[in-house]
Amino acid sequence: MSKLDFVLEELVTANRILANEGIVDSFGHVSARHPDNPQHYLLSRARAPERIERGDIVEYTLDGTAIDERGRAPYLERFIHGAIYEARPDVHAVVHNHSPSVIPFGVTGTKLKPLLHMCASCGHEVPVWDSQDKFGDTTLLVSDMAMGRDLAKLVGAGPTALMRGHGATVVGRSVRHAVFISVYLEVGAKLQMQAMAMGEIKFLTPGEVDKIVARVTDYTLNRAWENWARRAGRDMQAA
Ligand code: MN
Repeated sequence: MSKLDFVLEELVTANRILANEGIVDSFGHVSARHPDNPQHYLLSRARAPERIERGDIVEYTLDGTAIDERGRAPYLERFIHGAIYEARPDVHAVVHNHSPSVIPFGVTGTKLKPLLHMCASCGHEVPVWDSQDKFGDTTLLVSDMAMGRDLAKLVGAGPTALMRGHGATVVGRSVRHAVFISVYLEVGAKLQMQAMAMGEIKFLTPGEVDKIVARVTDYTLNRAWENWARRAGRDMQAA
């Protein structure tokens, strides 16, 4: 199997997992950097993630131009992906979602921080991108490279940023890594809301977060991936 075949199959599985785990619904998307050309990325045509098949996946240049569109209409917000790949050579996958439990943290000023070891990969504290700051009244959708680059700047060297009144963007070193962080970002947000109702939270310390992140190896990612993939009716490919 070629590296490209592998990544295309990973992307189909990632879409099905994210839908099955409730991280995306009819909207949201996941991309991968092209394994043979770092200046291109792979992303489905505009379609609900649960329905995506391999033939839906289109190759794009970093500025969001399709290489061979063949009538496959693109996601309006594909600029999120290209802008992140442009800014972050270490990133090989990007998830954009409207994961429900993260939304309150984007609109209240309450910071989303890890309180569970499995959530350490979301970083010490999740920043919030507000499209209003630079772009004023918009539809909130990241509809061009200027918006994508502004979001990528806020993500910085980190794993994720929330988007005010909209959702989240998550990056990873692989498709499996980005999916892992996305799932546990939702889990962590839900738990933080529950814990806040009970009292003062003792969050993970920055030192704990760093130690846990260093331990999130492919072994960890693969264990979760196999389970989520099979639950979504997909087999796990040998990495
Ligand atoms: Mn969106």
